Amino acid sequence: MLITELKAREAIASLVDGKKVFIINCEGCKEVHFPEKEAKELEKELAAEGRLTGSITTDYICNPENMQLRLKNHMSEIEAADAVLVLSCGVGVQTIAGYLEGKPVYAACDTYPLPGFQGVTPLEYECDQCGECWLNLTGGICPITACSKSLVNGQCGGSKNGMCEVDGDMECGWERIYRRLAQLGRLDLLKCPTQVRNFATDEEVSK
Ligand code: SF4
Ligand code: SF4
Repeated sequence: MLITELKAREAIASLVDGKKVFIINCEGCKEVHFPEKEAKELEKELAAEGRLTGSITTDYICNPENMQLRLKNHMSEIEAADAVLVLSCGVGVQTIAGYLEGKPVYAACDTYPLPGFQGVTPLEYECDQCGECWLNLTGGICPITACSKSLVNGQCGGSKNGMCEVDGDMECGWERIYRRLAQLGRLDLLKCPTQVRNFATDEEVSK
């Protein structure tokens, strides 16, 4: 189980300031707490400012077949947007980022764990429900699960020929992040000073 919580409004504003936005809302599987009311408010605000090119609201955006079909039906609205804002857990954001490789895809939510059964989805992407989601700094690739050491501030230096030094069968997650940021023209994100993460627990979040 998990809780998705909308990031602070200032954090979302800084991602999409002055940009045209396409929104993808995941209403979640029943194992996910989703901030539906806040999501609707955010969508209304962007529409009122004339910055919303379109939106999709559905459940299970982590289901690749379902999502591929829905994205196809909205491609012109997505192309008209400067960025896609995804309101879901980290798996959903990575699923969308995987499909829209040339487009900035931003996580509007943080993902916190809750004890209990986790919904069964055909997972190609993973989220460790680490709390403050880092995908907006890493081009939509999760540094917690794509890096064997879950490093959040760059590569360890042990990678050989693009492969991880801990698991030789796995591509180095930070090399993937570097390539993705280069493709998006956002290598500047790697130059930002070390960020302090919010390690609030799920108990603190659910209060
Ligand atoms: S950084 Fe990774 S583990 Fe943390 S919430 Fe985002 S997708 Fe999940
Ligand atoms: S080689 Fe890459 S994926 Fe492996 S631990 Fe180091 S930074 Fe992480």
